[in-house]
Amino acid sequence: MIDVHCHLNFHSFENDFDEVIKRAHESGVEKIINVGTSLESSQKAVELAKNYENLYSIVGIHPHHADKLESGWEKELETIAKNKKVLAIGEIGLDYFSYKSNGIVNPSLQKKIFETQIQMAHKLKLPLQIHNRQAGKDILEILKSHKNILKETPGMFHCFAGEIKILKTALALGFYIGFDGNITYNGIAPGENTSLKDLVGYTPLERIVTETDAPFLTPIPKRGSRNEPSYVIIVGETIAKIKNTSFSEVDKITTQNAMSLFKLNAMR
Ligand SMILES: [Zn+2]
Ligand SMILES: [Zn+2]
Repeated sequence: MIDVHCHLNFHSFENDFDEVIKRAHESGVEKIINVGTSLESSQKAVELAKNYENLYSIVGIHPHHADKLESGWEKELETIAKNKKVLAIGEIGLDYFSYKSNGIVNPSLQKKIFETQIQMAHKLKLPLQIHNRQAGKDILEILKSHKNILKETPGMFHCFAGEIKILKTALALGFYIGFDGNITYNGIAPGENTSLKDLVGYTPLERIVTETDAPFLTPIPKRGSRNEPSYVIIVGETIAKIKNTSFSEVDKITTQNAMSLFKLNAMR
């Protein structure tokens, strides 16, 4: 399997990422993609990818950090994105959830930073990895208005949540859909109205990619501890159960999906 979205570049893995990567490979996770959320963590993801054969990176500015940028950030990000083993621009998008720590970043600023990065991805011929929290409608509007520059495989929505209507449009635009350990949770998350299990059920397996978002969103039965890429296996098993198919089928198809979305065959 492939973990297409995690953050081994964050502090919580500082002391043991060697073991974490080893455990992942021993569990059957072939490749791990670390994702940046700021210039610093993007640079860190690129450095990690240099040191480990099966690590790759995705670089970008998360909407949370849209108000912490200094002039010249575009140039810096572009330089980082030109490194080898950078597979996409992400995680980028919009986040309208009000967090206790920093509330909601000004939506028009979020949109501006998102659009700048869509343009950059187009220029560098990289797909998008999109973060959406309760902003599906606005994200789709922006994507539709950039339809002329989105290629046949424009990218993926990471950690998908939202209404079926949003999912349908994302699929119609050609996006892959990422699911995480929270698909093992019961009930519906605050602010949402569609269960993740229903969203998994609706998404064709040919369009699903698997991820952990480690250190966050630890799946049941590991919930309560730090998440890590080896647990992407649990995500695969849960998808298999929901779709009433075998784990090996989910493993095979989602791996193929990630390989083709991120052109990983060509990178070998
Ligand atoms: Zn995210
Ligand atoms: Zn993330």
